[in-house]
Amino acid sequence: MLDGARWWNQAFEAIGYKDAFQVKMLPESADPLDVRYNVIQWVHRSTRGWSYGGSISDPRTGEIIKGHVSLGSLRIRQDFLIAQALQAPYANDNTDDDFALQMALARIRQLSAHEIGHTLGFAHNFAASTNDRASVMDYPHPKLSLKDNKIDFSDAYGVGIGEWDKVTVAYAYREFVNDEDNQLQKILNDAFAKGLRYISDQDARPKGGAHAYGHLWDNGSDLSDELNILKPFSFSGVKNSIT
Ligand SMILES: [Zn+2]
Repeated sequence: MLDGARWWNQAFEAIGYKDAFQVKMLPESADPLDVRYNVIQWVHRSTRGWSYGGSISDPRTGEIIKGHVSLGSLRIRQDFLIAQALQAPYANDNTDDDFALQMALARIRQLSAHEIGHTLGFAHNFAASTNDRASVMDYPHPKLSLKDNKIDFSDAYGVGIGEWDKVTVAYAYREFVNDEDNQLQKILNDAFAKGLRYISDQDARPKGGAHAYGHLWDNGSDLSDELNILKPFSFSGVKNSIT
């Protein structure tokens, strides 16, 4: 969780703030409700639930005063179970399920970064998956492939902060001596000139929001190509449940 949280430092370093974004264990004596601390809570719940990234801001200026993330612990178990179920690893007395643990940990790193992104003020970017995982603010589907007739989990989730996240950090947090409006516009123009895309909830979630790039829980730059990737997974017995 700390690993994923710290990815954001890469985006702040990119605009010149050296090691300014730090994540540490909360001191024993500190109160998580203390407004002076940005807090990530590791929450145990009886069912699978959403994780949250919220903030307390100054209503007069919009300035974020405190970030507050709640991450549900059960997700680790759920992701472990998904990987375990996909691979069915226990034939012939094999008990090695480290791949499932590694996938679950890769997901919680990504989720930690995602929820903290919300506390920094950033919305979802559901087009980031079309730009080679350009943002931790997309919803990532595990990217799986077949290797030697087994499912390869090694690239299931992205690692590190994305190109689009560097754009949003630069836009929201870089300081300018003058000419701010044009400089801000340049940040966006440069990003779009590189081919980066931004599609948020309004154009991705509603039934009427059928944007070609703005999908939740997808991979790759072209959805119809991705459908073909499902073919190798349509091995006998599970064909009907996948296609
Ligand atoms: Zn989110």
